[in-house]
Amino acid sequence: MNSQTGTPDHADTRVGGGSEIDHLLEETRRFPPSPEFAANAVAGAELYERAQRDREGFWADQARELLHWHKPFTQVLDWSMPPFAKWYADGELNVAYNCLDRHVEAGHGDRVALLWEGEPGDDRRITYAELTDEVKRLANVLTDLGIGPGDRVAIYLPMIPETVAAMLAVARLGAIHSVIFGGFSADSLRSRIDDAGAKLVITADGGWRKGKVSPLKPAVDQALGERNGLGVQETVEHVLVVRRGGNEVDWVEGRDIWYHDVVPQASAEHEAQPFEAENPLFILYTSGTTGKPKGILHTSGGYLTQAQFTHRNVFDLRPESDVYWCTADVGWITGHSYVVYGPLANGATQVLYEGTPEFPEPGRWWDVIEKYGVTIFYTAPTAIRGFMKQGRQIPQARDLSSLRVLGSVGEPINPEAWMWFREVVGAGACPIVDTWWQTETGAIMISALPGVTETKPGSAQVPVPGVSIDVVGEDGQHVGSGNGGLLVITEPWPSMLRGIWGDPERFRETYWEKFESQGYYFAGDGARLDEDGDIWLLGRVDDVMNVSGHRLSTAEIESALVAHEATAEAAVVGAADETTGQAVVAFVILKESYLRQHGPEGLAQQLRTWVGEQIGPIARPRDVYIVGELPKTRSGKIMRRLLRDVAEGREVGDTTTLADTAVMSVISAQVR
Ligand code: ATP
Ligand code: MG
Repeated sequence: MNSQTGTPDHADTRVGGGSEIDHLLEETRRFPPSPEFAANAVAGAELYERAQRDREGFWADQARELLHWHKPFTQVLDWSMPPFAKWYADGELNVAYNCLDRHVEAGHGDRVALLWEGEPGDDRRITYAELTDEVKRLANVLTDLGIGPGDRVAIYLPMIPETVAAMLAVARLGAIHSVIFGGFSADSLRSRIDDAGAKLVITADGGWRKGKVSPLKPAVDQALGERNGLGVQETVEHVLVVRRGGNEVDWVEGRDIWYHDVVPQASAEHEAQPFEAENPLFILYTSGTTGKPKGILHTSGGYLTQAQFTHRNVFDLRPESDVYWCTADVGWITGHSYVVYGPLANGATQVLYEGTPEFPEPGRWWDVIEKYGVTIFYTAPTAIRGFMKQGRQIPQARDLSSLRVLGSVGEPINPEAWMWFREVVGAGACPIVDTWWQTETGAIMISALPGVTETKPGSAQVPVPGVSIDVVGEDGQHVGSGNGGLLVITEPWPSMLRGIWGDPERFRETYWEKFESQGYYFAGDGARLDEDGDIWLLGRVDDVMNVSGHRLSTAEIESALVAHEATAEAAVVGAADETTGQAVVAFVILKESYLRQHGPEGLAQQLRTWVGEQIGPIARPRDVYIVGELPKTRSGKIMRRLLRDVAEGREVGDTTTLADTAVMSVISAQVR
């Protein structure tokens, strides 16, 4: 409702529908790096100064210092045809050589690359020399199967060492991988294989998940079988199958090949050929939180430079002594940049874990940290809030004292979840880096540097050195400290997407059209700048609520709810309302520890009042529903548009990218 005229104005939550986002929540806790950490940090404040002086020169230095170039580049950025950028265009490199061979040649062949832990408890240690060997053999096999530069290879595998080898072998040949998350169905697989026109699929019989073998090859068979049925031109010539689950699988003679029948026998001699810096490296589909996933294209030199640079500096990585663990699946961008390319380009030692956090019991991840002495731990808010729900006694029963840096990615981290991460997991001593980025950005764009930045719970804070970010109004003008608006990237960056596979027009429209005259990339997220100019992510612009003319962010109200002792996790949406235009509707999950001592009676009312006190009456939810589960994408992000359907009593929309499609009927029933 418009407060001046008293008439309800139609809630418009789309971009362009209103003014800046009102800023509500105040967070005053501050955590400077300890003097010891700051004194020994990998990255110091001089990186910002260097990048400030000469941004392109800075990225040229990074590319030269961090990577091995078969042919050195002479140009840095070519932005003559925006929005299509070229970085280091006349240089040549081999991405796999940079992740493997050069470490072996430098005498680090015996260093462990992968500390792999299978869900049933089996484990393998793989050194850089061994991984290099495996990749060379596999590259020879792929060559025999007709894979060469530019060919697309679909990878549909569990979290096993062969998955890393497969990505690198494809990269080594200058071919393009498209990794498809193992949790996706035959349908999703088929549309992704078709979109990319893949010539080869690399899969496994199955992988371990929650104590059972979750089959993979049957989905590939179904995807390829159905496509033949539809009469669509078959592009897939072969299916290479790793044995992992031991489950029975059908076999198509001539098409299907067991990995173990060909790879160990293949020659381990393979010389990496150089490719142009702009040679495509991979296609990866976004998580699909807001709608139909987009096939994002990344190339080689710029991508690897920024992945390696951020992995080293944001996590304070010391390759010779750290044990790094990123819990993301390789099917997501975080798995590409911070399980495969960043860590391996840096020569790091890392944990790779196959299964789920709660198998065989809720403490499994903490057991993994204790077993391998993990020092750097990178995970997602959804996981942290899941652990908060179970209670602190579970991590506290393990020795987590090896940890020294903690990272978060995927969604805004609520200040209370941040504090829990810091105190319970990090024993109050580890710096936390909240890293904002996207499939499209390829690498971290906004984050604290752990030895430099005084951190603030819930804020991603500052662009990494060499990255230019702003928060602007609808008119493209900087909003100024203390205000909310739209997050934009104002200058090209090395790991930026080079397009949407097969759809240059959608690329331009989705990211560049909105601020065409300024030449800004629009990220789709809302953000605000605090008085120090630090950035706070406020959630998707599509999810912004308009209550009586005030534009409210989902992240701030959710954070207030999570700050209540009863709440583990919360999602809020704006639902159409006759008097206020839109009203805040909240869905909350309670902590198990709270439920052991209290009933849920009266809690909805208490939470409404609580939000009113924490951030003001305007943000007080009209309805609070206590639910057992929230709808999430397979990468763990809350899908608010489905909750909006429930809140407005509509039929629930497209649920194909949801992790568990049954969740929505449960929630609808609980709300009714
Ligand atoms: P789609 O674009 O298909 O809807 P998606 O945006 O979920 O899917 P990703 O590229 O995996 O696909 O996610 C990027 C988004 O995740 C960002 O735009 C942002 O909304 C959110 N995000 C990632 N990291 C952070 C963070 N540290 N703080 C706040 N939000 C984050
Ligand atoms: Mg997105």
